[in-house]
Amino acid sequence: MATTYDAIIIGTGQAGPFLARRLTGAGMKVAIIERKLFGGTCVNTGCIPTKTLVASAYAARMARRANEFGVVTGAVSVDMKRVKARKDEVSGQSRTGLEGWLKSMKHCTVYEGHARFESPREVSVGAERLTAERIFINVGGRASTPRMPGLEQVAYLTNSSMMDIDFLPGHLIIVGGSYIGLEFGQMFRRFGSEVTIIEMAGSLIQREDEDVSSAIKEILEQEGVHIRLNAKCIGFSRHGEEIAAQVDCTIGAPEVIGTHVLLAVGRSPNTGDLGLEKAGVSVDSRGYIVVDDQLRTSVPGIWALGDCNGKGAFTHTSFNDGEIVAANLLDNDPRRVSDRVPAYALYIDPPLGRAGLTEAEVRKSRRSALLGKRPMTKVGRAVEKGETQGFMKIVVDAQTGEILGAAILGTGGDEVIHSILDVMYAKAPYTVIQRAMHIHPTVSELIPTMLGELQPLTEKAGADMAR
Ligand SMILES: Cc1cc2nc3c(=O)[nH]c(=O)nc-3n(C[C@H](O)[C@H](O)[C@H](O)COP(=O)(O)OP(=O)(O)OC[C@H]3O[C@@H](n4cnc5c(N)ncnc54)[C@H](O)[C@@H]3O)c2cc1C
Repeated sequence: MATTYDAIIIGTGQAGPFLARRLTGAGMKVAIIERKLFGGTCVNTGCIPTKTLVASAYAARMARRANEFGVVTGAVSVDMKRVKARKDEVSGQSRTGLEGWLKSMKHCTVYEGHARFESPREVSVGAERLTAERIFINVGGRASTPRMPGLEQVAYLTNSSMMDIDFLPGHLIIVGGSYIGLEFGQMFRRFGSEVTIIEMAGSLIQREDEDVSSAIKEILEQEGVHIRLNAKCIGFSRHGEEIAAQVDCTIGAPEVIGTHVLLAVGRSPNTGDLGLEKAGVSVDSRGYIVVDDQLRTSVPGIWALGDCNGKGAFTHTSFNDGEIVAANLLDNDPRRVSDRVPAYALYIDPPLGRAGLTEAEVRKSRRSALLGKRPMTKVGRAVEKGETQGFMKIVVDAQTGEILGAAILGTGGDEVIHSILDVMYAKAPYTVIQRAMHIHPTVSELIPTMLGELQPLTEKAGADMAR
């Protein structure tokens, strides 16, 4: 006999718990199912632990730079056991807080185990059968492990197993020069490891503009991170106690010898073991659940939220998915995924805050546009803090004055970007920010100044303006 609920939520990632609160608040009887750690990727192996580790790495960096600020310290060393303990505490508090909240939520029943569809309205968890008219899938994703020659001969790490590291790797080889790889790369360099990042493409974080990508490369290289681009034929073999990574680049040594390998080459959705075929839910060729603009799957009464739907790969996109579904179901508010402005951050130091289109995407669209750009060396707050790496830039539609996109690579960039993001969401012209009085001394105070110096987006503009 199946137990009947008004709604079943599979997974306790970034959308599920919020949705449970909204649905129970509306008087529904809800079941939520978690097979492993409450809070999913962000809480346990993603954002929260990595940003806690980034904070330790920043402290190490500033301790080493103390002399520049007139502060006298002794030799600086990093105790990796304490770094990990701090990370475990922050992440653990978040996990147990969420677990306790769900377990004490009125009208909500928590099941612990692997959920699987038995039919479009029925889910099994071990021997239990649950049924509901509405089912929400929030199963997230995991690190991809693509086939690479020799990978089976060597031990490798992923973002999940990195969480167990309580020692300093001698030489960490990171495969993948995107967000996850770069964050771990800079962090472990600051802890004291030798680090090599191997990237198949010709630039780091390929989706970014060339100037952003090369500034990031420079920032990392200045700290002693080795970067190998155009690594077309990556493979591995054992080299005594160590690991050899074949890079086969056109320049540089053909092999990198390291002590540990981290694979950071993308994510795959957790949809293969969910019994989706029994429910008739469609997935695309990469396993992402196909959804419409309001996150409905191909089967009426089943929704997919978060990383498993391929519409976003961030905590804020997953949480926003939950808000969209709740608004449509409970508030008679037809919110849509296409309403949101793409936004994200890269948490190297200094961070990159991004909103909307890149400059390259605007150029490709051939619309008439204006560009503003300012190096952080011309931002007083950055100079005062001794953190002048990077730049900020913004692209504006020349006809409507709407902001099309922005990148702030510099101290506080992850926070400052929101002043631009909110105006973009409001579809207001850039003059709204330009006329606002911003606080001194901040990085944000230079955004109106940058907007007062816009120039037509020509072939040359950009390169010249950054000087
Ligand atoms: C190293 C790293 C750093 C990151 N940093 C950031 C960042 O700084 N900012 C940011 O916005 N994003 C970041 N992300 C991405 C972010 O973590 C994810 O986008 C976010 O967690 C997506 O959450 P979700 O709701 O889709 O699912 P998840 O958080 O992945 O949760 C899914 C849950 O479902 C459970 N589950 C899966 N299958 C089943 C099943 N069959 N039955 C029961 N339960 C199941 C899982 O155990 C898991 O708990 C990072 C990711 C990584 C890997």
